[in-house]
Amino acid sequence: MKRPLSSLRTTIGRALFAAAPLWLASCGGDGVDCEIDAVFTDHQASEIRRAADDWNRFTTREVTFAPQGEGDWLILRASVTENRLGYAQRKRRLIRINPVTPDDQVYAVALHELGHALGLGHVKQGVMDPERQTILFSAEDMAECRRVGACPD
Ligand SMILES: [Zn+2]
Repeated sequence: MKRPLSSLRTTIGRALFAAAPLWLASCGGDGVDCEIDAVFTDHQASEIRRAADDWNRFTTREVTFAPQGEGDWLILRASVTENRLGYAQRKRRLIRINPVTPDDQVYAVALHELGHALGLGHVKQGVMDPERQTILFSAEDMAECRRVGACPD
């Protein structure tokens, strides 16, 4: 006897549903796979990668890098008229770094914006402080990271 198609769909649906939590657990879920636009210099790109390495010491949502055209997230230049050094647009999966950002601040800006990409909001002190941002992770950064599920409890 042939199985009705609807029953097969349900079986496949259950199999996918059952597999999802395992898959999420194995990769941390919501990982940030980035592509660095070719406009950045090698030095700037290595500073962005260094910021990602630092997040990867804490986060269960890994920041990874993809070749041109294959990234889920894009790290691009902002417009020169923007008055901020960088910003992240989570829904659009974009991180923008202003061309006026000095080379020695690309690391700090990338650290902050990758934090947003990982789901973190602002805190009053640390990497995610929008006013007096530091390059040192604070207890507040870690608490925020845990709150959004990007760091283990
Ligand atoms: Zn911010």
